Amino acid sequence: MKAMVYYGKGDIRFEERPNPTILEPTDAIIRLTKVTICGTDLGIWHGKNPEIEQAAREKTGQWNGRILGHEGVGVVEEVGLAVRRWKKGDKVIISCVSRCGKCENCQKQLYAHCQDKDGSWIMGYMIDGTHAEYVRTPFADNSLYPLPDGLDTDAAVLLSDALPTAHEIGVQYGDVKPGQTIAVIGAGPVGMGAVLTAQLYSPAEIIVIDLDDNRLAMAKEMGATQTINSGKVDAVAEVMRLTAGRGVDCAMECVGYPATWDVCQRIVKEGGHLANVGVHGQSVNFEIEKLWIKNLTITTGLVNANTTDMLLKACCAHKLQPGKLATHHFQFSQMEDAYKVFKHAAEHKAMKVIIEY
Ligand SMILES: [Zn+2]
Ligand SMILES: [Zn+2]
Repeated sequence: MKAMVYYGKGDIRFEERPNPTILEPTDAIIRLTKVTICGTDLGIWHGKNPEIEQAAREKTGQWNGRILGHEGVGVVEEVGLAVRRWKKGDKVIISCVSRCGKCENCQKQLYAHCQDKDGSWIMGYMIDGTHAEYVRTPFADNSLYPLPDGLDTDAAVLLSDALPTAHEIGVQYGDVKPGQTIAVIGAGPVGMGAVLTAQLYSPAEIIVIDLDDNRLAMAKEMGATQTINSGKVDAVAEVMRLTAGRGVDCAMECVGYPATWDVCQRIVKEGGHLANVGVHGQSVNFEIEKLWIKNLTITTGLVNANTTDMLLKACCAHKLQPGKLATHHFQFSQMEDAYKVFKHAAEHKAMKVIIEY
């Protein structure tokens, strides 16, 4: 089969690979029908995760590349002997987090940190991922969702990662409540997911901050009440102006840079929440000397995907319409072009690139 394989910093190749096979009785093999590329895939390509090669070498003594991707929908091709919930031909949504359901962390619904060797976020990371014709999904009974016939498949692929991440790590950890003023810093796919899923809780004001006017315009369409281009104005001063000097109840950091963290820690009001969603590659300046007195809650995390099912139902009921985030469509044979466009997303006015088979 064809697959997009990561070999090292700056080195990905669209090449022929052997089809995956069932390794554990709880596995399923899925034939992909639609996938998307995540910022995390780009991060791996840019060399942010040297641990991928290190872990492979420690485990097997060799490095043969890693198929990227942890988002997608498809059709069950084959199931292991212990799989009860699925059979060949079932249409499914793949969760980016695999869960054994038995370990200490799974018992606590902390699926992001499932302790099994095949648990947590491992697809397209510690095992081969979805940017291929077929993928092996561990713990199939716990880690796949039924893809309803009526659901827009562009929306469905966003249920693999972008929407649950935004909802759980941004909106739920940020404790968004009716009437609140919230700020989303970073209008990428996850920031947009936060704008969309925050509205399930009726905040009064949603302020979105980004450097890209095109993304800010899209944020307005998705439900932002105010937008700020932090390249043109001082974002902190502007948030204070818009909130009569009070700041926001919840600031969601959806980028992962020191500068965006700084904005968040300076705009969150006393008693508020700072929900960090961004994947950081370096330390930030944590102004504890100013924050200690403010009775804040600061949260971080990796998605548990424990709200995927409720988000799926909200999508099916059209209470949540993330399909509009899919701005570009490619055929699987154009995978390299899809990566190029997503890498230069601003230039191409791209939000989510969707790859069809
Ligand atoms: Zn992702
Ligand atoms: Zn587990």
